[in-house]
Amino acid sequence: MLSIKNLKASIEDGTQILKGINLEVKPGEVHAIMGPNGSGKSTLSKVIAGHPAYTVNEGSVTLDGKDLLSMEICDRANSGLFISTQYPTEIPGVNNVEFLQMALNSKRAYQGLEPLADADFKKLCEEKMAMLEMDDRYRDRGVNDGFSGGEKKRNEILQMAILDPKVSFLDETDSGLDIDALRIVAHGINQIMSPEKAVILVTHYQRLLDYIKPTYVHVLRHGKIILSSGPELALKLEEQGYDWIEEN
Ligand code: ADP
Ligand code: MG
Repeated sequence: MLSIKNLKASIEDGTQILKGINLEVKPGEVHAIMGPNGSGKSTLSKVIAGHPAYTVNEGSVTLDGKDLLSMEICDRANSGLFISTQYPTEIPGVNNVEFLQMALNSKRAYQGLEPLADADFKKLCEEKMAMLEMDDRYRDRGVNDGFSGGEKKRNEILQMAILDPKVSFLDETDSGLDIDALRIVAHGINQIMSPEKAVILVTHYQRLLDYIKPTYVHVLRHGKIILSSGPELALKLEEQGYDWIEEN
């Protein structure tokens, strides 16, 4: 479904951050990406999303066979890609729920569907907010405006629940969450997940993977995936760190 081949990308001064990433994500799979700080995990998500700070030097990224890298950012999202960033952006003055409604309806328009009626959207939104145990306070505030770190992460998963993407790339969604919030958010992700969808989780900790069982665990270091294995790898990393892995 999501196919990343030999992806190399650099920043403005020419420094290469991604040095040939290969990743094949099939429907129904959960991929965990781990690795030391500064390895390129967030950069990978931003390059897939189309962040203008990065130049793709080589390689390809396709979603259901469509070339994502040649698409506008909004069309990548409309085609079923969702990125939850490590540091969600605050957009004061833009109402959280209206933002969600417009985002969903623009995706529906792209798919040739009618916009969801206000009442239907309200129902959908209430259902998803209940699933994530979010109270009404979040409804009328600006997008992430003044939200705590954990509230922003929960709001990102609300966006995911409403937009119902095919492939979600969640960058350190567990950071900043207290123990109860972690459980609620993980439960929400599991509810959204289905055999037709896939999730890529960037995390430093096994605790998220106790709730969301990965199909594969990858280690990204120095811009490359240096090891891929099953869920047991996350446990080994938690015990032994990254230094035992040989890079080639
Ligand atoms: P990770 O998410 O794995 O911790 P990042 O992808 O955020 O790592 O960063 C990888 C490396 O690339 C880091 O050394 C970071 O400082 C650098 N980097 C990423 N984006 C930029 C940018 N826009 N400008 C300068 N350096 C960047
Ligand atoms: Mg990061």
